[in-house]
Amino acid sequence: MATVPGTMRGVLIESTGGTEVLQYKTDIPVPEPKEGEILVKNYCIGINYIDIYFRTGLYPSPKPEILGREAAGHIVALGPNAPTSFRLGDRVVYLGAGTYAEYSTTSAAKTALIPSSVSSSDAAASFLQGLTALTLVREAYPVKPGEFILVHAAAGGTGLWLCQILKSIGARTIGTVSTEAKAELARRNGAEFVVVYGREDVVERVKEITQGEGVAAVFDGVGKDTFEGDLEAVSRKGTVVTFGNASGPVPPFTISRLSAKNVKLARPMLYNYIYTRGEFDHHTNELFRFIVEGKANIHVHEIYPLQDVARAHTDLEGRKTTGKLLLKP
Ligand code: NDP
Repeated sequence: MATVPGTMRGVLIESTGGTEVLQYKTDIPVPEPKEGEILVKNYCIGINYIDIYFRTGLYPSPKPEILGREAAGHIVALGPNAPTSFRLGDRVVYLGAGTYAEYSTTSAAKTALIPSSVSSSDAAASFLQGLTALTLVREAYPVKPGEFILVHAAAGGTGLWLCQILKSIGARTIGTVSTEAKAELARRNGAEFVVVYGREDVVERVKEITQGEGVAAVFDGVGKDTFEGDLEAVSRKGTVVTFGNASGPVPPFTISRLSAKNVKLARPMLYNYIYTRGEFDHHTNELFRFIVEGKANIHVHEIYPLQDVARAHTDLEGRKTTGKLLLKP
């Protein structure tokens, strides 16, 4: 195994702001794994919308900071008391922090061995968004076959996973997207109906499709622009799951409004569904089974070189992308 160098390439931010704060550096010290941690040489890094929230400051985090919340690679060092289930050379995918870099340390608790039939890039392209979609449909609102479900940004990274998983459950997905090309992709990935927002009225189309009933649940990662419509599109006793802020955060809300239809409202975060090792393994195993059994269509928009990270962020924020964006260190 190659020795670990003292410095590495990575993307650092010292303050919050636009893409101009993303600094590609070639002399960042390689971190040392602490108690229970492992050091991974990253092969492929996943970009997620949450990276933009940390860059802009919508979600606060200490600076300077190396952005990035997931990656896949192989283990090059083990910290003191790292679990014996991990060995040098193992291929792993993990959720952590500071992944926009050649090397990252990560807690073994949020690290999984990649099954031999799954490539490292497919693992990095699937992990955070696939787990998010799975935990939403299993836990935030346990979806049943035949139910109508509304999914916003259906051609996005998380959206395409939702479409595929909902289809495998036998649910009837109504996806929303911004363009006809995205509509076609969402359909190919399992959405039975797709509404192009801006061109058609989402609530009216949902009412038409569901014969006035509304949907059993809404999965909404768009936030500010779609939340009011969610309350109209959801059925009596239905569930609105708001899990992101791509268009901005949902403004403060008067909870008594939920009584108009006895609606349930959830605002989940992935980490609270995979908090224990048992929960993490349970959902990770289901995700890997889905992939290994050939049920997943892993759609990668583009693999960007690490130094092109600003272009990747511009594309994601500019709604130019579909599926997953990856960085190659
Ligand atoms: P996506 O690939 O879905 O990209 C975001 C998409 O949102 C865009 O492609 C766009 O699709 C849509 N969108 C609608 N309005 C806007 C806007 N004003 N600006 C930008 N995009 C807009 O990203 P991810 O899959 O990474 O994340 C999707 C959402 O899920 C995010 O809000 C993210 O924070 C959230 N999330 C939450 C998690 C949690 O634990 N709670 C975990 C993972 C993700 P279109 O052009 O079709 O409208």
